[in-house]
Amino acid sequence: MEKSPHLHRFHITTFGCQMNLADTSTLVSILTDSGFRRVPDEKDADLIILNTCSVRDKAEQRVIGRLGELRRYKQARPEVRLAVVGCMAQRLGEKLVELAPHVDIVLGTDRLFELPQVLARSNGSAAIMTAFGQQEIDDFSPVKETDYSAFVTISRGCDNYCSYCIVPFVRGRERAHSSDHVVDSVKRLVDEGVVEITLLGQNVNSYRHGDTDFPRLLRRVAQETEIPRVRFMTSHPKDLSDELIEVMAAEPRVMPHVHLPLQSGCDRILEKMGRGYTLAHYRSIVDKLRQYLSYVSLTTDLIVGFPSETQEEFQQTLDAVEEIQFDAAFMFRYSVRPGTAAARLSDDVDEAEKIRRLSLLIKLQQKIGSQRNQREVGRIRRSLVEGVSRRSDEYQRARTEGNKTVLFEAANLSPGSVAPIRISSADAFTLHGELVESS
Ligand code: SF4
Repeated sequence: MEKSPHLHRFHITTFGCQMNLADTSTLVSILTDSGFRRVPDEKDADLIILNTCSVRDKAEQRVIGRLGELRRYKQARPEVRLAVVGCMAQRLGEKLVELAPHVDIVLGTDRLFELPQVLARSNGSAAIMTAFGQQEIDDFSPVKETDYSAFVTISRGCDNYCSYCIVPFVRGRERAHSSDHVVDSVKRLVDEGVVEITLLGQNVNSYRHGDTDFPRLLRRVAQETEIPRVRFMTSHPKDLSDELIEVMAAEPRVMPHVHLPLQSGCDRILEKMGRGYTLAHYRSIVDKLRQYLSYVSLTTDLIVGFPSETQEEFQQTLDAVEEIQFDAAFMFRYSVRPGTAAARLSDDVDEAEKIRRLSLLIKLQQKIGSQRNQREVGRIRRSLVEGVSRRSDEYQRARTEGNKTVLFEAANLSPGSVAPIRISSADAFTLHGELVESS
């Protein structure tokens, strides 16, 4: 690929979810192959990239704040190029340049990998590219996140149009990578030393390419590659099939963790959200997972204060959380995303009430998360070592099969090794344990 003669060093900041992290890794690899060098400090960069998120207003406000700071920075260093890519670039397009005229390049979710070519032909005026369908999806291969782990995107976009969600608008219709591409990518990553991959899609359960659906793809990855640990996310309750549970039960290298967003415990709200399932259906999946898997860790997403949610309906969410017993949850206040179906509804639960509901929910989930973690005490979990603890270098940090963080006394294990850790104590967020010495 061509390289702009003036630009050499880039800095990239990623906002949002794992899909964005995966896109950032691919973009970094494309830029590096084109002769650019990534630098850890923005001040050393002559190309600054923000890979953005639109899923909540707060995420966009953070980017806008960052752009405000970069305006002053660019006044001092006008030669620096500023590229905004990803979901917010897709959503706002030209409006982004009206809002922040110091932005040089705006590339949407289907165009960000064209950044080197855009830089090479840039003529000084802002470049804005947001059209979908310009890329052959299999042209881009996943790259390592760390020396030992990688995200492998199996599909891009989403066809579900949940009423509150901006994703289908900013990431487009669902497009699947071929199963051969996924399997070959995993084989290559294994050759590069990766021991854990996460198969990624907005809704992995609706994956289909030719005759291959998601359970078949997962089985192929587990059986045709040497990858020691496989995860996947995000699952959708309306599409999670019995076949998937069978594959999870049969393939020990598929990690026993399911992230299954419930969003609300009230059927009327679920219907207004356009989620396509009831609480009873959700419950039946959880029952099957817990029946067929000897151990499974279950995490979820929940939204409080969706338009017209009453106190009783919020109580149904609390009741569902109490009943289902999630290991962990991401919990949010509803925030209007312009252009979505829910944006036409009156956002009638006031902010103070949303905050009250959210804090009640968080308190409940912390109690449950702590209890769930207590159940781990005494068990031995084969855990993937990630490095030293962020809090103290006397401890190393690892991730259990159930995707829980465990800290153990530093034993000089290299990141990427898998070690048996006996869990000795736990709080709501973290397990503590000790390395089980092999005899
Ligand atoms: S499944 Fe629903 S919530 Fe998830 S990305 Fe698609 S539209 Fe958004």
